[in-house]
Amino acid sequence: MKKFLTLCVACLTFLLCGCSSTELNLKKESKSLNTYTMDLTYNSDHTLVGKQKLCYTNKSDTNLKKLSFHLYAKAFSEGAVNKPVSTLNQSKAYPNGLDYGDIQITSALANGTTTEFIYSGTDNNILNVNLLSELEPYDAVTIELEYKVYVPNVNHRFGFGENTINMANFYPVVAVIENGEFVCDPYNYNGDPFYSDVANYNVSLTVPNSYTVASTGEQTKVTETDNTKTYSINAICVRDFAFVMSDKFQIATDSIDGVKVMYYYYNDAEFENNLKAGIDAVKTFNKLFGKYPYSTLSVVKANFVHGGMEYPNLVYISDEVEGADYTNVIIHETAHQWWYGVVGSNAFKHPWLDEGLTEYSTVLFYEENPDYGINTSDLIKNTNNSYVTFVDLYKEVLGKVDTSMNRALNEYDTEPEYVYMTYVKGMLLFDNLCELVGKNNFLSGLKEYYKTNALQNVTPSHFVAAMEKVCGMELKSYINSWVEGKVVIVAID
Ligand SMILES: [Zn+2]
Repeated sequence: MKKFLTLCVACLTFLLCGCSSTELNLKKESKSLNTYTMDLTYNSDHTLVGKQKLCYTNKSDTNLKKLSFHLYAKAFSEGAVNKPVSTLNQSKAYPNGLDYGDIQITSALANGTTTEFIYSGTDNNILNVNLLSELEPYDAVTIELEYKVYVPNVNHRFGFGENTINMANFYPVVAVIENGEFVCDPYNYNGDPFYSDVANYNVSLTVPNSYTVASTGEQTKVTETDNTKTYSINAICVRDFAFVMSDKFQIATDSIDGVKVMYYYYNDAEFENNLKAGIDAVKTFNKLFGKYPYSTLSVVKANFVHGGMEYPNLVYISDEVEGADYTNVIIHETAHQWWYGVVGSNAFKHPWLDEGLTEYSTVLFYEENPDYGINTSDLIKNTNNSYVTFVDLYKEVLGKVDTSMNRALNEYDTEPEYVYMTYVKGMLLFDNLCELVGKNNFLSGLKEYYKTNALQNVTPSHFVAAMEKVCGMELKSYINSWVEGKVVIVAID
């Protein structure tokens, strides 16, 4: 996500396709992944009826008795404890007053047999489906779920606004397994409280025919009736599926390095420049980090309370953002396709890892693209000094300040504290590390990190390992001193 600050502002060559083996072969990778087959119908009363079949293989070394799914939409329900927005942003998110949504599971089958399901977690945000018999390591099970989703009137990742209907984190997504346990972190209004494995998605999405849909994956077919439009969508090796729809969308399209970039917009005289920002971002990050492995990227203008949000092959850009900030959000969210999309991490537990690196990726972008008119030395200096001002102010008001970054989303006391420690200090960490090891080493480290961990979930230790391997020096203690809040940052003149 992109939040705005309140204070400152392969060695072989595949001859047939002409690509090198350092590029990911998604078709090959997809064969070992879980697959979601979804039949979704969006109704004009802002409900969605879903039928979903998940073919799931147990890749843990533990026998499983159940599968746990996140029901992120539960955070939007009436009376939810973990609300989707802070009090500070409530009026901006709900311009027409508070409204509520929900997801209700209506049936569950395990390998074709009706099975019980129970909710757990705060706000019933976790769905547990009984497998009827134990699932041994490397065995597979098919779980079929039927559900109804109630979409709230809210300018959020999940909700409808004046111009767009934003459908992300709306379906039951299976939780990641670590050490034999499902990772079932709660929702949080700060940051992006999401964590999932890459999987394949075959989706049939029916919507009222006045709408145009932007989505994760490739839209392979659209069929129309008098009232409806049905999109057939195929996405492989992606860690989530999302779509945005609008009856106002216009689409501008261009391509770069074999990637089709689509800009979905309304009321935008600058659409050509905004499409170009998406194109330039893909081109730059392909060169700096390694190739974007997917065939499409949709940059979508949307009613969204925060600056922007990343999903696989799809980014939201808030229509409340303007000018150079709007361009910056496009670049930030596109960088997330590398740091979140391809290299995944637990964004609830280690939010600085993807947000900090994504913020620093925008600095690298501006260095590569001077025509965007951003002086990166000034950008770093201003970011540094804004951080110092924030820390001083926080100390003055509260008497103390915690500058550690190794905190989960719900361990930050306030939204500004989260934003400063994750995005701002995150950017400074990567900039200082880049200076310490040298830019060539730093960029080689990022390439290594990307290549080694593509389609996986990482922790900060994976980043350290990639950098240490390339730089040939111990960096763990340096990075830890930043993360643990031991480094004192001083103002730059
Ligand atoms: Zn972000």
